[in-house]
Amino acid sequence: SLYNQVQDLKGCIRVYCRVRPFLPGQSNGQSIVDYIGENGNLMIVNPLKQGKDARKVFSFNKVFGTATSQEQVFADTQPLIKSVLDGFNVCIFAYGQTGSGKTYTMSGPDLMTKETWGVNYRALNDLFQISKFRIDVITYEVSVQMIEIYNEQVRDLLVSDGSGRRLDILNNCQPNGLNVPDACLVPVKCTQDVLDLMRIGQRNRAVGATALNERSSRSHSVLTVHVHGRELVSGSILRGCLHLVDLAGSERVDKSEAVGERLREAQHINRSLSALGDVISSLAQKNKHIPYRNSKLTQVLQDALGGQAKTLMFVHINPDVESIGETISTLKFAERVA
Ligand code: ADP
Ligand code: MG
Repeated sequence: SLYNQVQDLKGCIRVYCRVRPFLPGQSNGQSIVDYIGENGNLMIVNPLKQGKDARKVFSFNKVFGTATSQEQVFADTQPLIKSVLDGFNVCIFAYGQTGSGKTYTMSGPDLMTKETWGVNYRALNDLFQISKFRIDVITYEVSVQMIEIYNEQVRDLLVSDGSGRRLDILNNCQPNGLNVPDACLVPVKCTQDVLDLMRIGQRNRAVGATALNERSSRSHSVLTVHVHGRELVSGSILRGCLHLVDLAGSERVDKSEAVGERLREAQHINRSLSALGDVISSLAQKNKHIPYRNSKLTQVLQDALGGQAKTLMFVHINPDVESIGETISTLKFAERVA
């Protein structure tokens, strides 16, 4: 059964690496990707170095090269999505420096083009489709929350007035699965409902920011899909949730240059990304103590990290030589959690 299939993946943490193509207008220079192996190996070549130090191999569960379509990426994500309908909690992260393709993977370049829809829309579409197959056995309700974590403060992205009220996080696995109970919880019945919500979310994300891109690269956005199923014969209830997380840009900020608000933001981002790395690597090492309490991000996601939950991290890198420093540190982060 599907249940047995997903049991095999229990407690599983996977890391996929995605290399974005050179962008139009970007010098179609030498790519730092030397080769991508079938087995999930990625060899990086650093043109600034000589000899054997110039090349380094990193290993992942999968590596997607520049020609990989959104559809192909999703095909390798789909089994996790399906397990949510069996009552599993799942976290999918997009990690990488600003401009490396996180939002492209999660949302896609624009809402209007179905072909380039990202994981978010495809995942929800799938949940709607699959939940309909089994309507004679189990009925599902799907609802969505969307929050932003900025400077260690949680804000609701689905409130209609966009008022940035700070939200509290409840710890220790709420029976209804709602760790952020005051964030709007909106029932969705079809993909169009989801698209409408995404528009509200994106609009709210821009409020109070000088430029959308600026703010979105310095905050984490978390789209949470709650699935509530009821078996018709037994009446038993099943609950699963899917967190789709577009993380803040992982780039290091030069401490000698950043001041004031910018420095504060950078410190919050560094702290929360390393807290996330600590949690995932402690889970991978099967440590007894998992340090969830060190950031708002890991507190919000606590139910969906560890235990029976499944985690997928998309690690994004740029192909260009100018980014090689950031790229190497991104790959090192990934190696730590893999
Ligand atoms: P991030 O969210 O990490 O800051 P974006 O997703 O906004 O980065 O991507 C930066 C730019 O690169 C955008 O113009 C985006 O459309 C483009 N891009 C990213 N990944 C890909 C890809 N796999 N294929 C084509 N274009 C991409
Ligand atoms: Mg982005």
